[in-house]
Amino acid sequence: MSYDPNNIFAKILRGEIPNDTVYEDEHVLAFRDIQPQAQTHVLVIPKGAYVSFADFAETASDAEIAAFVRATGKIARDLGIEENGYRVISNHGRDANQEVPHFHLHLFGGQNLGRIIK
Ligand code: 5GP
Repeated sequence: MSYDPNNIFAKILRGEIPNDTVYEDEHVLAFRDIQPQAQTHVLVIPKGAYVSFADFAETASDAEIAAFVRATGKIARDLGIEENGYRVISNHGRDANQEVPHFHLHLFGGQNLGRIIK
């Protein structure tokens, strides 16, 4: 699947749509989900153009992947949800109901998450 430069997260990265940023660095942007499914619900996205988890895993550089994973851990720590626990998931493709075709992680926390999955 080729990358659609007009997907909503691409527009957020270009500053065309406002967002509630919680973290930003050279490789990564993290912002609050517009329809939160938990007390804390943050989306973590790479700045590079990757359609999904599989695309990111297969084509991003080791430096981008390392920066992304480390940033996600730091964001959870900085949001204060590390101690009580949190959940990280990514929806890849049709069966997972991926809505936005720019790779992202959902970071959930701030409450007991039960067994519900996004
Ligand atoms: P997916 O189903 O692709 O894994 O999740 C996409 C997520 O993006 C959903 O949780 C949805 O609420 C969120 N989302 C969609 N459009 C926007 C937007 O314009 N701003 C923000 N902050 N989140 C969005």
